[in-house]
Amino acid sequence: MRIETAHRDQLQQWEKDLEQQYQRICQHNLSLDLTRGKPAADQLSLSDSLDGILTGDYRAPDGTDTRNYGGLEGIAASRELGADILQVPFEEVLAGGNSSLTLMYHAVLTGYLFGFAGNQPWKDMSAPKFLCPVPGYDRHFTICEQLGITMDTVPMTATGPDMDVLEQKIREDDQIIGLWCVPKFSNPTGVTYDEDAVNRLAQLGKIANPGFRIFWDNAYAIHDLDHQVILPNIREAALSNDTADSVLQFASTSKVTHAGAGVAFVSASPANLASIKQQMSAMTIGPDKVNQLRHSRLFPELTQLKEHMQKHAEILRPKFACVLEHLDKNFADTDLGEWEKPQGGYFVSFNTRPGVASEVIRLSAEAGVKLTPAGATFPYGKDPENTNIRIAPSFPPLEELDTAMAVFTLCVKLATVREALANA
Ligand code: PMP
Repeated sequence: MRIETAHRDQLQQWEKDLEQQYQRICQHNLSLDLTRGKPAADQLSLSDSLDGILTGDYRAPDGTDTRNYGGLEGIAASRELGADILQVPFEEVLAGGNSSLTLMYHAVLTGYLFGFAGNQPWKDMSAPKFLCPVPGYDRHFTICEQLGITMDTVPMTATGPDMDVLEQKIREDDQIIGLWCVPKFSNPTGVTYDEDAVNRLAQLGKIANPGFRIFWDNAYAIHDLDHQVILPNIREAALSNDTADSVLQFASTSKVTHAGAGVAFVSASPANLASIKQQMSAMTIGPDKVNQLRHSRLFPELTQLKEHMQKHAEILRPKFACVLEHLDKNFADTDLGEWEKPQGGYFVSFNTRPGVASEVIRLSAEAGVKLTPAGATFPYGKDPENTNIRIAPSFPPLEELDTAMAVFTLCVKLATVREALANA
């Protein structure tokens, strides 16, 4: 199927055939969901031994009684786990509560209310602004939106954000004080930033407002599907450019153990970590150290963590293969859509022809397949080209995913042909 070269009669014929197939599918009363990137139940079960793992021994390896108050930075064993995941020194890691999103929210608040490392609080600037590579993660955008921080977009490429555009924006506007990045298996495109992107990002601290911070949300740091994909180390790149203060890194075990019941980490330069701790110290006496200890018992060394992630990969691999097979089979030699082939993470991002995405989502919903709302991957929920759709394959069982993808690809074709006819 090639839309650009198709004549009107051909489009009409396609529409008729696709409409018939669509009506048949609608009669099946499906109820399938490809929306949020949640681990499936069998993935969660991989960590069920967390329950009861302490067997009455609440002492951390360094002797800390985790049942009691204290230790804002988290227990040493947890900070080591965070250091392993983010590939940074243990001293630069704070192990927190159950959610990296919470840590990110508080880090943004820290910059906003107090400023990092002695810099001006963002609330005192005339128009503080974050740059958001798009498509991106909707919950990042919601944080900025809630605090009234303006967002501007930068296109994602197959190797990271479009660095020419990003650098130019930063040069032209000293009100830019933040940048959201999901550098490995990006949510949603699945792209991992390459060496050039990471090196150029590490240099932004030289040209940006001194209060500028990169929010390096490495949520999928260890979520490889086949082989290990190496993300260049932003801390090392920043250190060699003398910009270590410009980066804040985040990760969690949310998609490693039990989602929303794990341990989250923030890693930053000593000056940034001091700012974060100062803000936190008024808010909490310390994190849930008992849960931190459970995680350290489950993963005493990096080896156990890696073995555990391979079990996740075994469950996820056929699901990603299923999505990519459907896309390949239906769209490989067409001009109906584009997508990356992620080597890990939780998403496949599909771009329709301009103006078609919301109709695909509507048609799919009517046929019983729920997709992430149109525009969700853009700040303010507005995808200017109306092209991006985030597919989350992890949660449904394989057979359901297979059916959902058959419906999805059909809806892409029908919506595209209708759009082409309307514009012919
Ligand atoms: N960052 C990204 C990029 C994510 O995709 C997710 C989960 N969907 C999170 C953060 C949330 O992580 P947590 O559960 O640690 O808050």
